[in-house]
Amino acid sequence: MATKLLYLEDFGVMAAAAHVLAVETQEDGRVSVVLDATCFYPRGGGQDWDTGVVQGADAEFVVEEVRLDEQGVVRHIGRFAHGTFAASATVACQVNEARRAINTRLHSAGHLVDMAVDRLGLPWTPSRGAHYPHMSFVEYGGKLDPAQAETVRAEIEQVVQKIIAAGGENEIRFIPVEHMHTVCRHVPENIPRNKPARVVIYPGNFGIPCGGTHVKNLAGIGTVTIPKVKSKKGVIKVSYAVAGIN
Ligand SMILES: [Zn+2]
Repeated sequence: MATKLLYLEDFGVMAAAAHVLAVETQEDGRVSVVLDATCFYPRGGGQDWDTGVVQGADAEFVVEEVRLDEQGVVRHIGRFAHGTFAASATVACQVNEARRAINTRLHSAGHLVDMAVDRLGLPWTPSRGAHYPHMSFVEYGGKLDPAQAETVRAEIEQVVQKIIAAGGENEIRFIPVEHMHTVCRHVPENIPRNKPARVVIYPGNFGIPCGGTHVKNLAGIGTVTIPKVKSKKGVIKVSYAVAGIN
Protein backbone atom coordinates (compact mmCIF):
# COMPACT_ATOMS: atom_id res chain seq x y z
CA MET A 1 0.00 0.00 0.00
CA ALA A 2 1.36 3.42 -0.98
CA THR A 3 2.31 5.63 1.95
CA LYS A 4 0.18 8.76 2.36
CA LEU A 5 2.55 11.69 1.75
CA LEU A 6 1.45 14.42 4.15
CA TYR A 7 4.04 16.96 2.98
CA LEU A 8 2.43 17.02 -0.48
CA GLU A 9 -0.68 18.78 0.83
CA ASP A 10 1.01 21.10 3.31
CA PHE A 11 4.69 22.08 3.36
CA GLY A 12 4.37 23.05 7.02
CA VAL A 13 3.58 19.60 8.47
CA MET A 14 6.60 18.65 10.58
CA ALA A 15 4.84 16.33 13.03
CA ALA A 16 2.12 13.76 12.50
CA ALA A 17 0.62 10.58 13.95
CA ALA A 18 0.84 7.38 11.90
CA HIS A 19 0.44 3.62 12.18
CA VAL A 20 3.23 1.09 11.83
CA LEU A 21 2.84 -1.28 8.87
CA ALA A 22 6.24 -3.00 8.88
CA VAL A 23 9.54 -3.08 10.76
CA GLU A 24 12.39 -4.91 9.01
CA THR A 25 16.13 -5.25 9.51
CA GLN A 26 17.98 -4.51 6.28
CA GLU A 27 21.06 -6.29 4.94
CA ASP A 28 23.24 -3.40 6.11
CA GLY A 29 22.01 -3.90 9.69
CA ARG A 30 19.89 -0.77 9.75
CA VAL A 31 16.15 -0.95 10.34
CA SER A 32 13.45 0.02 7.84
CA VAL A 33 10.10 1.25 9.17
CA VAL A 34 7.02 1.55 6.94
CA LEU A 35 4.08 3.65 8.14
CA ASP A 36 0.62 4.28 6.66
CA ALA A 37 1.38 8.02 6.39
CA THR A 38 4.44 10.22 6.75
CA CYS A 39 5.53 13.84 6.93
CA PHE A 40 9.16 12.84 6.20
CA TYR A 41 10.35 13.90 2.75
CA PRO A 42 12.09 11.07 0.88
CA ARG A 43 15.00 12.02 -1.35
CA GLY A 44 13.78 13.03 -4.80
CA GLY A 45 13.63 15.80 -7.37
CA GLY A 46 17.08 16.98 -6.36
CA GLN A 47 15.97 17.61 -2.76
CA ASP A 48 17.58 15.69 0.07
CA TRP A 49 15.67 13.50 2.52
CA ASP A 50 14.47 14.52 5.97
CA THR A 51 15.85 13.16 9.19
CA GLY A 52 14.15 13.12 12.59
CA VAL A 53 12.55 10.73 15.07
CA VAL A 54 9.53 8.45 15.26
CA GLN A 55 8.27 7.92 18.83
CA GLY A 56 6.23 4.96 20.02
CA ALA A 57 4.72 4.27 23.43
CA ASP A 58 8.01 2.82 24.72
CA ALA A 59 10.31 3.12 21.73
CA GLU A 60 12.22 5.78 19.82
CA PHE A 61 13.37 5.34 16.23
CA VAL A 62 16.02 7.66 14.79
CA VAL A 63 15.39 8.36 11.08
CA GLU A 64 18.68 8.67 9.19
CA GLU A 65 17.45 8.27 5.63
CA VAL A 66 14.09 8.26 3.83
CA ARG A 67 13.37 6.57 0.49
CA LEU A 68 10.30 6.32 -1.75
CA ASP A 69 10.09 3.14 -3.85
CA GLU A 70 8.48 2.52 -7.25
CA GLN A 71 5.22 1.45 -5.59
CA GLY A 72 4.97 4.67 -3.60
CA VAL A 73 6.02 3.09 -0.29
CA VAL A 74 8.20 5.26 1.96
CA ARG A 75 10.92 3.52 3.98
CA HIS A 76 12.23 5.30 7.07
CA ILE A 77 15.71 3.90 7.54
CA GLY A 78 17.68 4.18 10.76
CA ARG A 79 17.98 2.60 14.17
CA PHE A 80 16.04 2.27 17.41
CA ALA A 81 17.48 4.37 20.24
CA HIS A 82 15.45 2.10 22.50
CA GLY A 83 12.55 -0.35 22.22
CA THR A 84 10.81 -1.38 18.99
CA PHE A 85 7.42 -0.88 17.33
CA ALA A 86 4.64 -3.48 17.43
CA ALA A 87 2.69 -3.97 14.18
CA SER A 88 -0.12 -1.39 13.83
CA ALA A 89 1.16 0.62 16.82
CA THR A 90 0.39 4.35 16.75
CA VAL A 91 3.55 6.45 16.51
CA ALA A 92 4.45 10.14 16.38
CA CYS A 93 6.68 11.41 13.54
CA GLN A 94 8.84 14.48 14.10
CA VAL A 95 10.93 15.92 11.28
CA ASN A 96 14.24 17.69 12.01
CA GLU A 97 12.94 21.18 11.19
CA ALA A 98 16.29 22.92 10.81
CA ARG A 99 17.47 20.46 8.16
CA ARG A 100 14.13 20.58 6.33
CA ALA A 101 14.16 24.40 6.31
CA ILE A 102 17.57 24.40 4.61
CA ASN A 103 16.49 21.85 1.99
CA THR A 104 13.22 23.70 1.35
CA ARG A 105 14.91 27.08 0.88
CA LEU A 106 17.49 25.57 -1.47
CA HIS A 107 14.81 23.80 -3.49
CA SER A 108 12.65 26.92 -3.82
CA ALA A 109 15.68 28.97 -4.85
CA GLY A 110 16.28 26.51 -7.70
CA HIS A 111 12.79 27.21 -9.01
CA LEU A 112 13.39 30.95 -8.80
CA VAL A 113 16.23 30.43 -11.27
CA ASP A 114 13.65 28.77 -13.59
CA MET A 115 11.35 31.77 -13.15
CA ALA A 116 14.16 34.19 -13.93
CA VAL A 117 15.17 32.24 -17.05
CA ASP A 118 11.54 32.36 -18.17
CA ARG A 119 11.14 36.10 -17.47
CA LEU A 120 14.32 36.85 -19.38
CA GLY A 121 12.89 34.95 -22.35
CA LEU A 122 15.91 32.65 -22.58
CA PRO A 123 15.03 29.77 -24.93
CA TRP A 124 16.40 27.10 -22.62
CA THR A 125 14.73 23.78 -21.75
CA PRO A 126 14.81 22.86 -18.04
CA SER A 127 16.44 19.46 -17.51
CA ARG A 128 17.63 18.69 -14.00
CA GLY A 129 18.59 20.31 -10.75
CA ALA A 130 20.45 19.60 -7.53
CA HIS A 131 19.31 21.46 -4.43
CA TYR A 132 21.81 20.22 -1.85
CA PRO A 133 23.85 22.35 0.55
CA HIS A 134 27.09 21.05 -1.02
CA MET A 135 25.83 21.32 -4.60
CA SER A 136 23.11 23.68 -5.85
CA PHE A 137 22.50 24.13 -9.55
CA VAL A 138 19.87 23.98 -12.29
CA GLU A 139 20.66 22.69 -15.76
CA TYR A 140 19.04 23.52 -19.08
CA GLY A 141 19.31 22.30 -22.63
CA GLY A 142 20.27 25.12 -24.97
CA LYS A 143 23.08 27.24 -26.30
CA LEU A 144 24.94 30.10 -24.67
CA ASP A 145 27.84 32.01 -26.16
CA PRO A 146 30.61 31.86 -23.49
CA ALA A 147 31.22 35.57 -24.13
CA GLN A 148 27.66 36.24 -22.91
CA ALA A 149 27.87 34.04 -19.80
CA GLU A 150 28.77 36.81 -17.37
CA THR A 151 26.04 39.15 -18.66
CA VAL A 152 23.42 36.39 -18.43
CA ARG A 153 24.66 35.41 -14.95
CA ALA A 154 24.21 38.98 -13.71
CA GLU A 155 20.76 39.26 -15.32
CA ILE A 156 19.52 36.02 -13.75
CA GLU A 157 20.83 37.10 -10.35
CA GLN A 158 19.11 40.47 -10.64
CA VAL A 159 15.76 38.98 -11.67
CA VAL A 160 15.90 36.32 -8.93
CA GLN A 161 16.49 39.02 -6.34
CA LYS A 162 13.62 41.09 -7.74
CA ILE A 163 11.25 38.12 -7.52
CA ILE A 164 12.22 37.51 -3.88
CA ALA A 165 11.83 41.21 -3.03
CA ALA A 166 8.32 41.19 -4.56
CA GLY A 167 7.46 38.16 -2.38
CA GLY A 168 4.09 36.44 -2.50
CA GLU A 169 2.83 32.98 -1.63
CA ASN A 170 2.69 29.85 -3.72
CA GLU A 171 -0.28 27.54 -4.05
CA ILE A 172 -0.59 23.75 -4.26
CA ARG A 173 -2.77 22.12 -6.92
CA PHE A 174 -3.25 18.44 -7.68
CA ILE A 175 -3.59 18.19 -11.45
CA PRO A 176 -3.44 15.11 -13.73
CA VAL A 177 -0.17 15.08 -15.69
CA GLU A 178 -2.14 15.36 -18.99
CA HIS A 179 -3.53 18.74 -17.89
CA MET A 180 -0.39 20.23 -16.38
CA HIS A 181 0.50 22.10 -19.57
CA THR A 182 -2.48 24.41 -18.92
CA VAL A 183 -0.70 25.95 -15.90
CA CYS A 184 2.98 25.07 -16.53
CA ARG A 185 5.36 26.44 -19.15
CA HIS A 186 7.32 23.20 -19.04
CA VAL A 187 6.09 19.70 -18.18
CA PRO A 188 8.92 17.13 -18.02
CA GLU A 189 8.33 13.79 -19.72
CA ASN A 190 9.58 11.78 -16.74
CA ILE A 191 7.14 12.90 -14.04
CA PRO A 192 7.19 10.20 -11.32
CA ARG A 193 4.02 8.08 -11.33
CA ASN A 194 4.49 6.65 -7.83
CA LYS A 195 2.93 9.64 -6.05
CA PRO A 196 0.01 12.04 -6.61
CA ALA A 197 0.64 14.49 -9.49
CA ARG A 198 1.09 17.96 -8.07
CA VAL A 199 1.77 21.44 -9.39
CA VAL A 200 3.07 24.29 -7.25
CA ILE A 201 1.95 27.69 -8.56
CA TYR A 202 4.56 30.32 -7.77
CA PRO A 203 3.63 34.04 -7.72
CA GLY A 204 3.01 35.41 -11.21
CA ASN A 205 1.08 32.24 -12.10
CA PHE A 206 4.24 30.22 -12.75
CA GLY A 207 3.23 26.56 -12.43
CA ILE A 208 5.86 23.95 -11.59
CA PRO A 209 5.20 20.19 -11.67
CA CYS A 210 7.04 19.22 -8.49
CA GLY A 211 6.67 16.91 -5.49
CA GLY A 212 9.23 18.62 -3.26
CA THR A 213 8.76 21.01 -0.35
CA HIS A 214 8.69 24.77 -1.01
CA VAL A 215 8.95 27.97 1.01
CA LYS A 216 5.34 29.15 1.37
CA ASN A 217 6.24 32.84 0.97
CA LEU A 218 9.15 33.72 -1.31
CA ALA A 219 10.48 36.12 1.32
CA GLY A 220 11.41 33.04 3.37
CA ILE A 221 14.09 31.99 0.89
CA GLY A 222 16.52 34.72 1.91
CA THR A 223 19.26 36.10 -0.33
CA VAL A 224 20.10 34.17 -3.49
CA THR A 225 23.17 34.75 -5.61
CA ILE A 226 24.29 33.23 -8.90
CA PRO A 227 28.04 32.52 -8.63
CA LYS A 228 28.39 30.90 -12.05
CA VAL A 229 26.73 30.20 -15.39
CA LYS A 230 28.55 27.91 -17.77
CA SER A 231 27.76 26.21 -21.02
CA LYS A 232 29.17 22.99 -22.41
CA LYS A 233 27.98 20.64 -25.16
CA GLY A 234 24.43 22.02 -25.23
CA VAL A 235 24.04 21.99 -21.44
CA ILE A 236 23.79 25.27 -19.56
CA LYS A 237 24.50 24.99 -15.85
CA VAL A 238 23.36 27.77 -13.53
CA SER A 239 24.91 27.44 -10.08
CA TYR A 240 23.18 29.28 -7.27
CA ALA A 241 23.76 29.90 -3.57
CA VAL A 242 21.53 30.88 -0.65
CA ALA A 243 23.14 33.18 1.91
CA GLY A 244 23.84 31.41 5.18
CA ILE A 245 23.56 27.93 3.63
CA ASN A 246 26.10 27.64 0.83
ZN1 LIG B 1 10.96 21.21 -7.49
